[in-house]
Amino acid sequence: MKPILYIIVPCYNEQEVLPVTAPLFLEKLELLRDLGKISDESRVLFVNDGSRDATWDIICALAASDPHYLGIAQSRNRGHQNAVLAGLMEAKDRCDVTISIDCDGQDDIDAMDQMVDAYLDGCEVVYGVRADRRSDSFFKRFTAQSFYKFLAAMGAEVVYNHADYRLISSRVLKEFANFREVNLFLRGLVPLVGFKSTTVSYTRAERLAGKSHYPLRRMIALAVDGITSLSVKPLQLITGFGLTVALVSFLGVLWALITALCGKSVPGWASMTCIVCFVGGVQLISLGIIGEYVGKIYLETKQRPRYIISERTWESEKPGRNS
Ligand code: UDP
Ligand code: MG
Repeated sequence: MKPILYIIVPCYNEQEVLPVTAPLFLEKLELLRDLGKISDESRVLFVNDGSRDATWDIICALAASDPHYLGIAQSRNRGHQNAVLAGLMEAKDRCDVTISIDCDGQDDIDAMDQMVDAYLDGCEVVYGVRADRRSDSFFKRFTAQSFYKFLAAMGAEVVYNHADYRLISSRVLKEFANFREVNLFLRGLVPLVGFKSTTVSYTRAERLAGKSHYPLRRMIALAVDGITSLSVKPLQLITGFGLTVALVSFLGVLWALITALCGKSVPGWASMTCIVCFVGGVQLISLGIIGEYVGKIYLETKQRPRYIISERTWESEKPGRNS
């Protein structure tokens, strides 16, 4: 039996690029089917992440034009990670294997051949890794690489230069469904599920149309999410730093006492002010980091749903409406 593949494509305000890339996904599906690697039951599943433009209309039109296109819509915008999760969870009981990919054409669609080959060879997870980032601007490349290095330094292990272009088998997805955290950082969580995995490298291209939704602010938010959901190292660093500062202050107190006893004490307003400001700043940053974790605990305890699907292209119109 040939495996059923679902290509999961999150889309947020992508009306410019979707008409360009959607046929490319379908072509790849047909090619893989013609090569006898996947079943004809395979599909391209678009996840509309609460777009404010014509994205959902385009997805519905695509679904009407070819049965290989499917679409689901989230009830509102919840962010890239949750959109991918919604697609994966929707697909897990309908297929044998999924590949998640951005809809902007930046990730090389041809790498899917190798991913499917690796799956057929027994791998359950295949990470798409960007071999080079020449197409990215210097700023994007620099911030993205710093992002991975900072994550690693903070104890959040992720596959270097791997974003959310990856193959996951439904077997892994069924286990992954038991990871219930609300703070989603898929590229850090998928490796925790385990199973046999490998990487496939590809060259990252430029966006075919439209513009990026990941400005520096969202990248920083993603990095903070990644670190705080995968590692408690920052809290350990705070403790270590606090101990060091305490030790140094102890030596300072000794020194002050000795100089005072020797009658050599001098007015030290500037140095005192510096120390007070510095220690005050350190304390506030430490409180902020602890606050990040407390906030995460708060969100996790609510156990709110991580995605809500409001429409599916294969379900009929709601009864009593527009009739
Ligand atoms: N995306 C999404 N929800 C969002 C933001 C982005 O589903 O709130 C999708 C977007 O449509 C695209 C993918 O996530 O398919 C990656 O976004 P983008 O290309 O803007 O990020 P970049 O490649 O610049 O990091
Ligand atoms: Mg992109």
